[in-house]
Amino acid sequence: MQQFMKTQVMKTQVCIIGAGPAGLLLGHLLRAEGVDCVVLEARKPDYVRSRIRAGVLENITVSLMERLGLDARLKTEGLPHDGFNLADGERLIRIDIADLVGQNVCVYGQTEITADLMDAAEDRGLQVNYEAESVALHDVGGDAPYVTYTQGGVEQRVDCRFIAGCDGFHGPSRKAIPASVAQEFELVYPFGWLGILADVPPCNHELIYANHERGFALASMRSATRSRYYIDVPLTERIEDWSDDRVWDELAVRLGPEAAAKITRGPALEKSIAPLRSYVFAPMRHGSLLLCGDAAHIVPPTGAKGLNLAASDVHYACAALVGYFRSADNDGIAAYSNKALARVWKSERFSWTLTKLMHRFPGDGPFERAMQVAELDYIASSRAAQTSIAENYVGLPV
Ligand SMILES: Cc1cc2nc3c(=O)[nH]c(=O)nc-3n(C[C@H](O)[C@H](O)[C@H](O)COP(=O)(O)OP(=O)(O)OC[C@H]3O[C@@H](n4cnc5c(N)ncnc54)[C@H](O)[C@@H]3O)c2cc1C
Repeated sequence: MQQFMKTQVMKTQVCIIGAGPAGLLLGHLLRAEGVDCVVLEARKPDYVRSRIRAGVLENITVSLMERLGLDARLKTEGLPHDGFNLADGERLIRIDIADLVGQNVCVYGQTEITADLMDAAEDRGLQVNYEAESVALHDVGGDAPYVTYTQGGVEQRVDCRFIAGCDGFHGPSRKAIPASVAQEFELVYPFGWLGILADVPPCNHELIYANHERGFALASMRSATRSRYYIDVPLTERIEDWSDDRVWDELAVRLGPEAAAKITRGPALEKSIAPLRSYVFAPMRHGSLLLCGDAAHIVPPTGAKGLNLAASDVHYACAALVGYFRSADNDGIAAYSNKALARVWKSERFSWTLTKLMHRFPGDGPFERAMQVAELDYIASSRAAQTSIAENYVGLPV
């Protein structure tokens, strides 16, 4: 006899798909404002917790953690950075962001932000359903959308007023918006970033973005004892061909002799190659579905905007949803996409500009290189140029 398992149905105000930084931040902010929500996550908690990604926080991200009262570790363990460096051969141009725009950025790993948000979920009454399989969005164009998924073999359904698509670049949310109303803007770069994470002190107390004739390099860190370095490599490279020693050797050349002398080598905790792309999907809202974070846009990591853009989307989305549930105000929901996209495009511009300035593109000739040198000369000699970079680096106002 065929057995029918009954679908379990729950009701909430906002169903959030994805427990990355965007989904967890939005869930906490909505709970703090008294809005009911549930987060559905495809992966196991350990997987989400151990993902290694971004590490430079703009004010918007720090301020959301402060607003939630979840910034205790960030305050004690985060490293405030008053500047960063652009290297071109032997030359090092320091962008003194504290002096130029009176602000700083905070180095604190995305892994730590995720841990802080996950650890506080139960106490704050934020329900996160991990290992939610086959998540599908329904009726997003209307006022009564719902989400179906299976968990432990049982079919589940969440009826809600809004869905927040925070499920990253590969999730189902963006695809639920009909192609007839959508626009995609995409640029795929002809190289990827090979990253190495190691428990060694950083070679410099601030980040160094280096444009060397052998290619790009970035010296970054997650803490005073954990370093994150990158080099750009052709997309045809395989990580198996890059021993730790080969990566350290290449970094030492590209970062220049001064930084090389201070590099401490160590075994890789993580080593991978990530492709680089610039991508924007519009609109970021369709009916009752709001997209936040990587679900709607991707930036190349040059300039560290990905996580911070997810935070600014969440800031706008939370205000719009709270306005709707508190005072039946639909204006914030209607304005969400344009508001979020205005900031997204500016961050896309900055990440793209910095990527073009600091990488040697295949096919570029002497003219393109001369333009890079002229741009770097201008930056080195102009406080106005440095101020423009600094205000974008710390994050434009929300
Ligand atoms: C390898 C890598 C390295 C990066 N390095 C940097 C960096 O150095 N600096 C920087 O600024 N940015 C970096 N980024 C970008 C930054 O990490 C992202 O912008 C940020 O994670 C965006 O957060 P998000 O919550 O929008 O998306 P994500 O972090 O991708 O979270 C999406 C969540 O949705 C879940 N999900 C996906 N599909 C489903 C589904 N079907 N059902 C339910 N849940 C689903 C995922 O498991 C995930 O937990 C990096 C990104 C990657 C991928």
